[in-house]
Amino acid sequence: MVMVNEPLLNGNEKKYINECIDTNWISSEGPFVKKFETQMAEYIGRKFATACSSGTAALDMAVSSLELQEGDEVIIPTFTIISCAQALTKLGVRPVLVDCEYDTFNMKVGDIESKITSKTKAIMIVHIFGLTVDIDPVLDLAKRYNLKVIEDAAQAIGQDYKNKKCGSFGDISIFSFYPNKLITTGEGGMVLCDDDSLDKRMKSLRNLCFGPQRFVHNEIGFNYRMTNMQAALGVAQLERIDQNVEKKRWIGKTYNGLLQDLDMINLPVKSTNYCENIYWVYAITLRDDFPKTAKQVMSELGKYKIGTRPFFYPMHQQPVFNKARLFLKDKLPISKKLYEKGFYIPSGLALTELQMEEVSELLHKVLI
Ligand SMILES: *Cc1c(COP(=O)(O)O)cnc(C)c1O
Repeated sequence: MVMVNEPLLNGNEKKYINECIDTNWISSEGPFVKKFETQMAEYIGRKFATACSSGTAALDMAVSSLELQEGDEVIIPTFTIISCAQALTKLGVRPVLVDCEYDTFNMKVGDIESKITSKTKAIMIVHIFGLTVDIDPVLDLAKRYNLKVIEDAAQAIGQDYKNKKCGSFGDISIFSFYPNKLITTGEGGMVLCDDDSLDKRMKSLRNLCFGPQRFVHNEIGFNYRMTNMQAALGVAQLERIDQNVEKKRWIGKTYNGLLQDLDMINLPVKSTNYCENIYWVYAITLRDDFPKTAKQVMSELGKYKIGTRPFFYPMHQQPVFNKARLFLKDKLPISKKLYEKGFYIPSGLALTELQMEEVSELLHKVLI
């Protein structure tokens, strides 16, 4: 079986985890948590970082910190993970959806302005599959309309936008360290910002909003703390971020060569005016005239033990939101088509050249 995403834990992971056990520091009070936060903030070029239990938790904290009111609106892409939308709907805030570009999978930045209303309070940008959102025009809009920007850079750890690190843009940025991300802590996430009081707020939200007087609370928070063991993994992983980025780009380049003769599929875009693909996953789409759906192709590859994943199911079609009468009038055809045509093939950091050749051979067999 070639797994769709296998992580690589070949640095100091074991050594640092052993340190946690040997010293009995296993909770979030242990020293690796602060170390991981400081080192990530420095690597990304942000002042403050708050490690937490997942990327989803990080989005919850980021959105909660904005102190939005029920009925407020936040503009987000429709082609993303549900975590982005549920962080808003839980608070009674309305996600306003923007379609994506067919080739880069990222939100159509040109469509944002027409969605801004008097209730709009923020824009959430999400980098998808290895290419970035075109951030500068979003920052311009945010400035003109006085909106906050949240950057979800979960899939873009180590990626640059115009030679500046993803996760350094907007008011608040977040990462996930799930095992398929560029560095992993097993489960984990992080919120970053440059504002001291915002950072204090994140740390309070992460830890149940304890007041100055222990066990007296003026506000409701979360327990989204990261353990010392997770952070130990993170510190070891971050030591290897440059190699990980290089490996992802090598995987992308190798597949580009192996699959270039398959004219029934579109290969990922190599670069845009503002970024070089980091190939977080190697995402392909079937050409319009190809008779099978992505679902059929994925199922045939599965029979040959090649792991694949479908694309995001567009937010405006999510049954859970439609049941709540959300997005019923949204027409966002590009993301809808992407879901039908697209899937990704094994692209984890542990992938070998031999495995890629096997994937290519079987992809040829299934498609031709
Ligand atoms: C993975 C991911 C998340 C969620 O992270 P978890 O750690 O799995 O909760 C959020 N946003 C994006 C874009 C992601 O890819």
